[in-house]
Amino acid sequence: MNMRDSEYVMGILMDRGFRKAKSADEADVIIFNSCSVRKHAEDKLFSNIGDLWKLKKRKPGLVIGLMGCTAQSYKDAALERAPLLDFVCGTGNESDLPAIIGDILKDRCRMVAADKVNEKKHEIFPAYRDETFKTFVSIGEGCNNFCSYCIVPYVRGKERSRDAKDIIREIDDLGSRGFKEVMLLGQNVNSYGRGEGTDFVKLLCEINKLKGIERIRFMTSHPKDASIKLFEAMRDLDKVCEHLHLPLQSGSDRILKLMNRKYTVKDYLKLAESYRKILPQGAITTDIIVGFPSETEKDLKETVKVMKAAGFDSAYTFKYSPRPPARSCKLKDNVSEALKDKRLKTIMDIQCRIAEDINARLIGQPAGILVDGCGSKDPRKLTGRTRTNKVVVFDGRPDLVGKFVDVKILSATPYALKGKIV
Ligand code: SF4
Repeated sequence: MNMRDSEYVMGILMDRGFRKAKSADEADVIIFNSCSVRKHAEDKLFSNIGDLWKLKKRKPGLVIGLMGCTAQSYKDAALERAPLLDFVCGTGNESDLPAIIGDILKDRCRMVAADKVNEKKHEIFPAYRDETFKTFVSIGEGCNNFCSYCIVPYVRGKERSRDAKDIIREIDDLGSRGFKEVMLLGQNVNSYGRGEGTDFVKLLCEINKLKGIERIRFMTSHPKDASIKLFEAMRDLDKVCEHLHLPLQSGSDRILKLMNRKYTVKDYLKLAESYRKILPQGAITTDIIVGFPSETEKDLKETVKVMKAAGFDSAYTFKYSPRPPARSCKLKDNVSEALKDKRLKTIMDIQCRIAEDINARLIGQPAGILVDGCGSKDPRKLTGRTRTNKVVVFDGRPDLVGKFVDVKILSATPYALKGKIV
């Protein structure tokens, strides 16, 4: 989501005559796009801003700004914590950035604009994209779920879906410009259009009809809202890729309740089983948090049990950290850092073995790949992704980047497959 926001901001600034600088040294304006999901990211951000003092001394006219979730959560306090900052731009104010920067350049004032967190974004369609063949498309913003550990509903506001016609228009344009793959983004894509007479599956059906685009991905699905209807659409719509990201967070019902996730382990496993029945070749990935307040070894064992039962292709694993004003901050953060580290290692090791087994079964099989990169040292070492979102490394010509190729899988590790063009 943040990557797409950065691109969007770059696009609107470029439409106003700004150019992308090659380095911070060369820039007249530096904007930090921030994430506040974990405290570590926040601390690193403020330290990175502080590191610019030498540059600012050399170039007193340099404008330094902050956007994204930390900007929204800190507002004026960000100016106090980071004296080098000239402006703070909240998550709903990005389209105001040309005006904010213009005012600062004119008056040399410090500004905070963070008053539009619950508003729908203006539908502006800047052409700029970082990539040329695959890209992100936001279908909505905000979240109404208030999982107890999560800051997103506070910094991204209440759930707002973009109008389907604007999404279709954007993707249609991308298809006509040669883009082949889109990743639809939303904090909870499955609640797209709720209360507005439409839904996510209807949107997928419309996007599937568009020319040019050959692969459609989406992220993230909340287990309480993902449905059989969605899995059937993934099976029946030829462009929708067979990869479901379904965050588990914990395999303990007690912890899930404290997290306010609104499903049980039984619900989750039933859903995963339905997905496997409908899409036997499909991949399923997840997010897991360890060290949530009061988590015991028994809770961790239950999480491991679910990991094994669901057979995740991969998992993003995190240590819990309190994110005020999220509700879990009221609970005592009573799992020590050392224990969180140990538990994280435990589940990472287990996930590694699960993924190794799953990937080993792919050896000898064919796969269609969208080539997405080549090595900087050896440009003939290519990488790409299968429809199930697995990374494949193989030898080929660098001009294949951005194209589809068929490969045969030769070997596998927990993290990637090695293949050969056939
Ligand atoms: S669904 Fe929960 S974890 Fe995801 S963004 Fe919303 S509140 Fe955060």
